[in-house]
Amino acid sequence: MGGPEIERLIGLLAKLPGMGPRSARRAALKMLQQPETRMLPLASALAEAARAARPCSVCGNLDSRDPCAICSDPRRERSVLCVVEGVGDLWALERASVFNGLYHVLGGTLSALSGVGPVDLNAASLLARVEQGGVTEVILALGATVDGATTAHWLTDRLRPLRVTVTRVAQGVPIGGALDVLDDGTLAAALRARRPS
Ligand SMILES: [Zn+2]
Repeated sequence: MGGPEIERLIGLLAKLPGMGPRSARRAALKMLQQPETRMLPLASALAEAARAARPCSVCGNLDSRDPCAICSDPRRERSVLCVVEGVGDLWALERASVFNGLYHVLGGTLSALSGVGPVDLNAASLLARVEQGGVTEVILALGATVDGATTAHWLTDRLRPLRVTVTRVAQGVPIGGALDVLDDGTLAAALRARRPS
């Protein structure tokens, strides 16, 4: 059906989050029926984003500039850092407009099972940021999983000697790659209900 070029397109689309073979075929068909208005603009947007996007050297966010728009924004509260597992969590918090401090993207959680150790995470850069001074609170917004809890303990032990308040968002919230499924009210409540770690 449709030849190898179209099959390849459908195959790639089907690998995207939230897509499957069926929705990939529908999307491909929609685009193929309007190549000038849908397909070519998408193709150039993909190429431009791929060229421009890079991890922020300060916080790990993905942006087309470095430092990212959040780290460069003078209106952000620079004394509060929110530590998240992934960029998706950061984007969810930003979309909800519930936090006005700065972020630090860990890039995962410690996991004995998967062999993820401290050196595999952006943990050293977090401690370095706090050591530089000016940070009074670090909010750990990590997953309510065993690995999330292990990581929070590990970070708390290392942050405490740096004379910084370490807090955790309310437990029972399925944070950690899953933040963006939460509605904004739940996100705000989780952040408000943070407690000492
Ligand atoms: Zn940044």
